[in-house]
Amino acid sequence: MQRIRFIGDPVLRRETKEVTIFDDDLKLFVKNMIKTMHREDGIGLAAPQIGHSRKILVVDISGMEETEKPRAFINPTIVDSWGESVVEEGCLSIPDVREEVTRPEGIEVKYQNENGENHHNRFDGWMARVLQHEIDHVNGVLFVDLISPIKRKLLTEQKLIPNKY
Ligand SMILES: [Zn+2]
Repeated sequence: MQRIRFIGDPVLRRETKEVTIFDDDLKLFVKNMIKTMHREDGIGLAAPQIGHSRKILVVDISGMEETEKPRAFINPTIVDSWGESVVEEGCLSIPDVREEVTRPEGIEVKYQNENGENHHNRFDGWMARVLQHEIDHVNGVLFVDLISPIKRKLLTEQKLIPNKY
């Protein structure tokens, strides 16, 4: 079983390795990540959140958009972005914290799927939002890094996030 790592765990800040081998082990790993995401009631999960420093993330926004299915994004890079939107975010690694985060409204992403096929797509709406949050995770960034220092101080005082993380 994949265990969720929480804020303060150094693995959330560690540099991640690119995936180069697209074999059955990778497909099983992705399948288990989707299981873990569903078990934890998440709409996204990145490999560092379960202690693996690899550029892998999964997203499932089928709760908001009917045509969606669980999807894996391997080695994702944002190559372009536009607009701006403010959305309240939460994170499986930061329980009980929800804060508004400003991010681009839409993004263009290069990535591979679990079969190693290359994709280059533009996303907006929920997919763009969740993807940006999860791509941040594979780059060692947490959403509380993106809120104002005053709000962050308040969360520390309320012991919702540690002093150092
Ligand atoms: Zn998160």
